[in-house]
Amino acid sequence: AGTHAGTRTDTHCPYCAFQCGMTLVREDACGEVRYTVAARDFPTNRGGLCRKGWTAADLLSAPDRLTTPLMRDSKDGPLRPASWNEALDRITDAIGRTQREHGPAAVGIFGGGGLTNEKSYMLGKFARVALRTPNIDYNGRFCMASAAAAGMKAFGIDRGLPFPLEDIGRAEVILLVGGNPAESLPVMMQYFEEQKRRGGRLIVVDPRVTPTAALADLHLQITPGTDAALGNALLNSVIRQGYLDLDFIGLRTVGFEQVRRTVGSYWPDRGERITGVPADRINEAARMLGTAGTAMVLTARGPEQQSTGVDNVLSFINLALALGKVGKPFCGFGTLTGQGNGQGGREHGQKADQLPGYRKLDNPEHRAHAASVWGVEEASLPGPGLSACELLAALGREEPGKPGIRVLLVMASNIAVSAPDVAQVRQGLRALDLLVVSDMFLSETAGMADVVLPIAQWAEEEGTMTNLEGRVQLRRRAKPAPDGVRTDLQVIKALADRLGRGAHFTDDAREAFGELRRASSGGLADYSGITWERVAAEDGVFWPCPDEAAGPAGTPRLFLDRFPTPDGRARFSPVGHRPPDEEPDQHYPLYLTTGRVLSQYQSGAQTRRVPALLEAEPEAFVEIHPGMARSFGIRNGDRVRLVTRRGDAVVKARLVTTIRMDTLFVPFHWGGAGCANLLTNAALDPVSRIPEFKVCAVRLEAA
Ligand code: SF4
Repeated sequence: AGTHAGTRTDTHCPYCAFQCGMTLVREDACGEVRYTVAARDFPTNRGGLCRKGWTAADLLSAPDRLTTPLMRDSKDGPLRPASWNEALDRITDAIGRTQREHGPAAVGIFGGGGLTNEKSYMLGKFARVALRTPNIDYNGRFCMASAAAAGMKAFGIDRGLPFPLEDIGRAEVILLVGGNPAESLPVMMQYFEEQKRRGGRLIVVDPRVTPTAALADLHLQITPGTDAALGNALLNSVIRQGYLDLDFIGLRTVGFEQVRRTVGSYWPDRGERITGVPADRINEAARMLGTAGTAMVLTARGPEQQSTGVDNVLSFINLALALGKVGKPFCGFGTLTGQGNGQGGREHGQKADQLPGYRKLDNPEHRAHAASVWGVEEASLPGPGLSACELLAALGREEPGKPGIRVLLVMASNIAVSAPDVAQVRQGLRALDLLVVSDMFLSETAGMADVVLPIAQWAEEEGTMTNLEGRVQLRRRAKPAPDGVRTDLQVIKALADRLGRGAHFTDDAREAFGELRRASSGGLADYSGITWERVAAEDGVFWPCPDEAAGPAGTPRLFLDRFPTPDGRARFSPVGHRPPDEEPDQHYPLYLTTGRVLSQYQSGAQTRRVPALLEAEPEAFVEIHPGMARSFGIRNGDRVRLVTRRGDAVVKARLVTTIRMDTLFVPFHWGGAGCANLLTNAALDPVSRIPEFKVCAVRLEAA
């Protein structure tokens, strides 16, 4: 690795949770420096990259890169260039004034699942030690908070895949619920293809015939918002057909009898009435799972991003446990993480209720451990704060007894596009005393800020990322950041210095990782045995890894002997069907669901700046079944207006026979008039506080 002419640097893709290994090649030609991506034989992606990965180097030469801080002198004034000192002074002056007048909690932080482990850790510490505010949360709350809560409840731990990716290729049957890795984690498809080559079978649950569902042996085209009913009906059928693994249930779980009683009323005909999936398909899926020697159940954002998200996931965990297909090689329950550091980002303290190592802010022992590592009094640490949507709802809004958030720092999130019911969120952002956004580009959120801080991007700094299987891996620096740009860690440290707490902070990623290891020691997500050198030398190390002398890879497979619950057994949880917050009615007669496309990522703040990706998917669209489109006189390519109780969006109609007649699909990667989140519902799951991106009621009109 290095940064000289013609050098190659082994690193990882800047985008999704697969975190494919790639090599960045620096070429000097005719006095110009150019970076290109080359394949790297990393164990997870095995040399493969999707089109986002192959074009990632374009981000390094994007013409609208920010290289100087920007400031707005008045709310209506334009952004103008500013010095770092001016920008940082403006921020800390506003923080000091606001906290003196309104208390520490009036300053909030919104982080991101794309931040490295070191940044996630330092941002959480910054909130609790430098700002002493409880109000920090992040965009992972939008993503898979429900799967995390369900995993904690059932297994005592939340690691997206508790087994290595290679196990997927060897499972006889896989049930994939509400995931479309062919577009969201494209390189992962090689494992599903391997599984098929070995004679395995794939069952996909999705309201659409996605590119992933098209490969399935059995597709269950579910009505949006009915996942728990399907999970229960599948388990009902498993019981009726005699496929329970009673030995496993007796030896390794608790709580099955209550679940047996609950699912007793979800016979497949009733399942069909609720979910729209024919009873014979439910029975066939149960038979495929029940007769397999090895099987996996995987969920993704489909069942998770709902106001019933935790129950939905638990219904499928119940199914996997009842089949005895957890904690054995080539078996298991897993959830497909989406964001680049979606796994690591939720382990080290940028969640409202959490301390590093998956410790809890409301646990006195956990607080004492964090305080001792941080060198502060335990009593000085704030308690749990507002979860993401509740934090956004408090922007600029004061209620009796609630001061609201008046200053917000945003890092690695484009909430003006990605938050549900985004018109409300934008109103909150405008009402703030001060909005600070650090970003590489003038994203939609940065464009609304009072202060914008230009920061280094993925190949310009080093750090660790934890992929979807819990493998901690190293992102190497391939080039210097442009002049005028700082790293997020430097920003955090500079702000802490000005707030008089700088002695507690470092802007060196390796030092931050060393501190993270101590802070996570003894926690569920224990990184204490993972050294920087091991991560670099061993192509990643799986957490938990409490011992430097532990095996070379850490812990790839969890639950083989016991579950990390007090009695070592997994928990069944009885859950019933609860309808989504909104169902179609005479005013809004269709379901709306949202999701991803292959050529864009997240809010598109990066991928919309890559010419090949923008050309492939230039704007938002809505998928409509031709039968439904005909009844509205809509033709392919027409502009249509979608209206929900939150607002309306204008997008291009894409007529497809691959979607249910009663459902519309809009991808969420764009701002502007086609922003999907102008439509979505911020109704929250009561446990995980995840919002309901995946289902609401919508009306279709000609634009
Ligand atoms: Fe990057 Fe994900 Fe594509 Fe791999 S699958 S190249 S990590 S976007």
